[in-house]
Amino acid sequence: MNKTRSSSLLERARQVIPGGVNSPVRSFRSVGGGPLFIKKGEGCRMIDEDGNSFIDYIGSWGPLILGHRPKCVIDAIQAVLEIGTSFGAPTEREIILAEAIRDAAPSMEMVRLVNSGTEAAMSALRVARGFTGRDLCIKFEGCYHGHVDSLLVKAGSGLATLGLSDSAGVPAAFAATTISVPFNDLLAVEQAFENHAGKIASVMVEPVAGNMGCIPPATGFLEGLRSLCTKHGALLIFDEVMCGFRVAYGGAQTLYGVKPDMTAFGKIIGGGLPIAAYGGSAEVMNYVAPVGPIYQAGTLSGNPLAVSAGLAMLKYLKEHPEVYTALEERTAKLCSDHFPGVTINRVGSMFTFFFTTEPVFDYESAKKCDTARFARFFTHMLEHGVYLAPSQFEAGFVGYAHQDADIEATRAAARQFFEAE
Ligand SMILES: *Cc1c(COP(=O)(O)O)cnc(C)c1O
Repeated sequence: MNKTRSSSLLERARQVIPGGVNSPVRSFRSVGGGPLFIKKGEGCRMIDEDGNSFIDYIGSWGPLILGHRPKCVIDAIQAVLEIGTSFGAPTEREIILAEAIRDAAPSMEMVRLVNSGTEAAMSALRVARGFTGRDLCIKFEGCYHGHVDSLLVKAGSGLATLGLSDSAGVPAAFAATTISVPFNDLLAVEQAFENHAGKIASVMVEPVAGNMGCIPPATGFLEGLRSLCTKHGALLIFDEVMCGFRVAYGGAQTLYGVKPDMTAFGKIIGGGLPIAAYGGSAEVMNYVAPVGPIYQAGTLSGNPLAVSAGLAMLKYLKEHPEVYTALEERTAKLCSDHFPGVTINRVGSMFTFFFTTEPVFDYESAKKCDTARFARFFTHMLEHGVYLAPSQFEAGFVGYAHQDADIEATRAAARQFFEAE
């Protein structure tokens, strides 16, 4: 594979951008080699600056459930370009998007639009604290909620890849407001509530974990969190930035039938543009300024380009439920092979090939993976035209643009790796 141009761009990028990348997960730190610079995307494929073409299972880390450049989204963006890119004043389409989100996830009676998943999680946490008058938050090891200071504690994903358990630059006092317990461990949550009685504002969880690789909630886990939060007067926050509109229209709360107090959405709801949202009951959301005392704001929040892209995406998904059926079938097929020393986790179109023989149900079990073997697998797949996330601790995504032939080509490339090993 020719990497001439990507290599020279990386060299140049490193002079002006830390590591040459604008998000650390894009570096190939844990798998070796440098990242590829992408020239364009079309359908399920990405083409790099050297002209190499890949079947893309990153999908911009989640948003591109319809693949690159879906017509509905491109048309919507083009229409908005005719009228303006930002007003800093309310527009009708923001209401329509908020209504669409509320209709999809009725737990969100009111919604605030923001620009990134990080902002959505950070704001939801602030609202939970302001509403309950408490400071502490329970989160789960390996779950990522954006680069929010106090939530960068055992935050999986990019940190796991870099072997960092925490980030430098986070004051100990901030980290001390977070209690981190193992995913899928209700007893640990119960214990934390007992140890910090009357002090816990919220339990924040990825209802389907994706940032330590794909890990489904154990039977009864989400229901258990729901009843513990109710019992102790804490708010249950579902961070559905990744799994929202991915595992089902309306997200994991729809799929599993558990109602959180607050939700964060992102990724898919922006249709590939920067948008995220947080919300909850009217009672809780009326604590947000200008109605209530909790401040949260944004110059580009509700930006017309991003809102239109998101609206087009949600409209398409709502009107085409067959998308989710197809994604389920195609991803099931992709994950149907049995490979020695590999455990495959999957929820809908989220999947991870964990390089371990044991079940993966939390961060500790995920960390048992043979990451060197994963790195060899990653490189083999890339060289055979398949672009997986460059880390063991990430979920892969199948999109509606992936055709059966793409799935079969991917399976063939994977089989070749294990046969040759
Ligand atoms: C991606 C992600 C975030 C952060 O979203 P950004 O848009 O990258 O800030 C937060 N929570 C979860 C679950 C995510 O997957």
